[in-house]
Amino acid sequence: MKIGIDIGGSHIGVGLIEGSELKDTVDKFFSLEDRNDIENAILRNIDELVNQLLFKYNISLENIESIGVACPGTVTDGKITSWNLGLKNYNLKSKLIEKYNLNVTVRNDGKCAALMEKKYGAMKDFDDCVFVNIGTGIGGAAFLGGELLEPKRYSGFEFGHMTLVKDGIPCTCGKKGCFERYCSIKALKTRITKTLNIDSTDMSGQYLREHVMVEYHDRIQDDINEFIDYLRIGICNLIDIFEPEVVCFGGSFSYYEGHPVLEKLIKEINKAGTTFNEEKPKIVTAFFKNDAGIIGATI
Ligand SMILES: [Zn+2]
Repeated sequence: MKIGIDIGGSHIGVGLIEGSELKDTVDKFFSLEDRNDIENAILRNIDELVNQLLFKYNISLENIESIGVACPGTVTDGKITSWNLGLKNYNLKSKLIEKYNLNVTVRNDGKCAALMEKKYGAMKDFDDCVFVNIGTGIGGAAFLGGELLEPKRYSGFEFGHMTLVKDGIPCTCGKKGCFERYCSIKALKTRITKTLNIDSTDMSGQYLREHVMVEYHDRIQDDINEFIDYLRIGICNLIDIFEPEVVCFGGSFSYYEGHPVLEKLIKEINKAGTTFNEEKPKIVTAFFKNDAGIIGATI
């Protein structure tokens, strides 16, 4: 058995993984206090959640082969730099090895989810693929000829930080007008709750999707249309660059499978004149949904 750890912008999930299956998962949201002391909070929460799982299944660390961590941002030799989390060169890998004395890998979450979907999920039958993880931010990966593209310097594939709007909304990365400021689920939530003048602090993605977007549909139509427009531009840019056979959406956006927002986005992308070449790729959502990262961290 392996332990997969998914560090998100707002929470940590720890899962027990057997083969390519997620046996169980426990998670915890960051408190305000955690956010002020994020480095220690990450370790403390991981420790608590790992113990919880081991206790639940009555197993010890000896039953665990390795630990894999998926986290947002750039990972270099196990060191995380993540503007979303407020981390700079945080060596989580060495801290976890010190604590658990197990083999530890730490990788960018978008890459972990992409590897999982490529090996076992929605992209397994394709060679040229673009994976776009849309959640708190936007990350991703690309495969050409079945191989994951990996730059020598940094993680690369910072899709979320390509500039979409000149002098646009300031981003946590220091630039302005980044793709994720307009097209992450967080950006969509911010936009909608601002229009409706409601509190978004504790609103889950599911609540936003299944209640708010249905109930207030007429009042937020412009927000949704603008979200789709920007997303279409960003995705079509990626299609022109990589010419993939498939584009797969991961992160919380993967739950929009069959939702009018994703249906409309696909329709817009498929219109004539949106990409350089007329033939469009297939557009799918992650088979493992939000679990792709936590399982993928261990492969
Ligand atoms: Zn940015």
